[in-house]
Parts: sequence; structure tokens; C-alpha cells
Amino acid sequence: MTGEEKLHHAFIGLGSNMGDRMAYLEAALREITAQPGIRLLKASSCYESEPVGYLDQDWFINRVVEVETTLAPLELLHVLQGIENRLGRRRLIRWGPRVIDLDLLLFGNLVLRTRELTVPHPRMYERNFVLIPLNEIAPKYRHPDGRTTAEHLQVYLATAPAEKIRLWTGEEM
Ligand code: AMP
Repeated sequence: MTGEEKLHHAFIGLGSNMGDRMAYLEAALREITAQPGIRLLKASSCYESEPVGYLDQDWFINRVVEVETTLAPLELLHVLQGIENRLGRRRLIRWGPRVIDLDLLLFGNLVLRTRELTVPHPRMYERNFVLIPLNEIAPKYRHPDGRTTAEHLQVYLATAPAEKIRLWTGEEM
């Protein structure tokens, strides 16, 4: 990155629930950080979470990372989609199993709602597997609506049915 380009903070959610889930997450993170114009700032722990929507599938492993980037929002989305495709994602069922799912959660203070990209991610405030890892690495981060991550998590916990989530220890339970 050169000093002249504008830097943005972005948060990316990673998830996998097929095959060697940790290997897919690690491969995706390696590809994200190898990308010119993206620098990794922080990565949350990994969490194991119950599937939402389509229940007849394995638990996910999820984590959230914070990056600094010179890319534009759509460029970053396309980078993430390229990684998903390279890692062999096959989307057969909506909300169904996937080897890797990469979501652009937040892009600085940007609020955008287009056919291709919505930020903040449209479902992130209803998902504990986003809010809990995000709160681990950026509790005081202020979202475009003025609330911090910790405040969003509090609202979620007060209103939503808490889906199961646990820290991933590397042990199958
Ligand atoms: P999903 O299967 O849930 O990963 O959704 C992928 C679709 O959501 C793609 O067509 C994207 O263009 C669209 N999309 C909209 N906003 C976002 C976002 N913030 N992050 C990732 N995909 C997004």
C-alpha cells in the first residue's frame, strides 16, 4: 500500500461447515491477507455455531477479521467472491452447507444498499456468530447507526432467541 491511497477499515465474516472447516477458514484468511491492498489488523477466535435457517447440516466454524484496505467496497466484495469460488463453494441450498462463506460486514462508515452489495451486512445484527466474534475484537467500534458493537450485542441478547455458540477449542464435541 502506498501512503497516498485512502485507507478504509472493513470487517469480514468467515464461516465454513463442510469438510475440514478449519482448513477452509485458514486457506481463506491466507488468501485475504495475500491480496494487494488488504492488510490484516485483527482476527477473532474461532467459534462453533449452530446452523440457522436450514437445520439439517453440520455446525459452522465462524470468525471475524478486521482489515485495512485501499480497495473500494465492490472491489473488496469481488475479491471475497473470487476466494469463495476458488475454494470450491457450491451453493445448492440457500442457507445450506458451504465450504466457505465470506461476508463483507462493515466498510468504514458506509451505508449502501444496492443489488450486489448491502453494508452493513443485512443480517449481521441478527447473528450471534457475527456479533460475538466482532465484539471480541472491536467492542467499541462505532457502527454507521451510532451504536457500538457492544451495544448491538446487548440489543441482540435482549431480544433474540440465543442460538447456540461456543468457543472452538479444536476438539469435536
Ligand atoms: P450469501 O449466499 O448469503 O453469501 O449471499 C451472497 C449474495 O449476497 C451475493 O449475490 C452478494 O452479491 C450478495 N451480498 C449483498 N451484500 C453482501 C455483503 N455485505 N457481503 C457479501 N455478500 C453480499
